[in-house]
Amino acid sequence: MKKDAIFVFSEDQLGYSFSDTHPFNQKRIVMTLDLLRKSNAIHDEDIIAPRIAADSELLLAHDEKFIEIVKKAGRGEAGKEVADIYGIGTEDTPIFHGMHEASATLVGGTLTAVDQVMEGHARYAVNLGGGLHHGFQGKASGFCVYNDSSVAIKYLQQKYNARVLYVDTDAHHGDGVQWTFYDDPSVCTLSIHETGRYLFPGTGNVTERGNGAGYGTSFNFPIDAFTEDESFLDIYKTSLREIAAFFKPDVLLTQNGADAHYFDPLTHLYGTMEIYKQIPRLAREIAEEYCDGRWIAVGGGGYDIWRVVPRAWSQIWLAMKQLPSPNGALPQDWLDRWQPQSPVPLIGTWDDPAPLYEPIPRKSEITEKNAQMANRALHMIRNEV
Ligand SMILES: [Zn+2]
Repeated sequence: MKKDAIFVFSEDQLGYSFSDTHPFNQKRIVMTLDLLRKSNAIHDEDIIAPRIAADSELLLAHDEKFIEIVKKAGRGEAGKEVADIYGIGTEDTPIFHGMHEASATLVGGTLTAVDQVMEGHARYAVNLGGGLHHGFQGKASGFCVYNDSSVAIKYLQQKYNARVLYVDTDAHHGDGVQWTFYDDPSVCTLSIHETGRYLFPGTGNVTERGNGAGYGTSFNFPIDAFTEDESFLDIYKTSLREIAAFFKPDVLLTQNGADAHYFDPLTHLYGTMEIYKQIPRLAREIAEEYCDGRWIAVGGGGYDIWRVVPRAWSQIWLAMKQLPSPNGALPQDWLDRWQPQSPVPLIGTWDDPAPLYEPIPRKSEITEKNAQMANRALHMIRNEV
């Protein structure tokens, strides 16, 4: 029988770990799954283990030489010279033991999710271990070694002949995926992110629209620092609805970085839990309207693993299961388990306390600027309609 949703997870995903002090921390997946279990929203039969991606699959989106270097580095056989050329062994993306196997497991998880959906075992599937959107064809970048979404989209094209809409709501620009498909008119990329003026990776301008035959299938929505829920959601909803209507995808792949929250230590956006409730609900609607339901969700950034990511990522699964967004307190046994490990007091409720921060004096200016930016980004498809 076809399931409504599948959750891809195994402890192997935790092997993707740069160091104990690195901000990219997969403990957030364990915490999310535990929150869902203790909320009685997920059960063992909903969970399947990721497979490890084969080299032939990684080669769909990565250079052979790069894969070879990642393997060597993970065995301790690469020197400092690989940092400049291949982006590993940097401060952001350090070398760790077994990094090839761990990175290929994250890619394999997204491929597992893809097959579950495309073979009709489940309507939706989520791999929170994926979402490594900064990985390039021949270079690691920004905590990302292999790019699971780029490999998965190539795999969707090759195995299932699908037109893919990739939607990236991480606070950073989804550069690796965008550049991989920049010339390809059968893949549409949509990224909403904090403007690259002051934030890594610096790209994601409205003017990046694709190249050659792919011109017009790359969309960027760079929003200002201090952007709040209302403006974020206005741009997300408008852009996703209009772009889906324009592109008419066969399958939806969403990257769900949870680093646009006010608490996130690496970015400057002022989102609250409200955006994380609404993002997956609309994604599901769009998948139903255009893709006969086919929706694959992956994780991504998210660096307040204690107060933000578990609550935010739980919302993806709740949307897939079409369970109402819960109100009120988090399960006490979840708080009791994680509070002793957390350096900050956990938030004890599904929603954020209001108000979460002092009012932003430039709110109307930021909202207006974001709206004008979105009009520029969508102008081309509005004229065609
Ligand atoms: Zn990010």
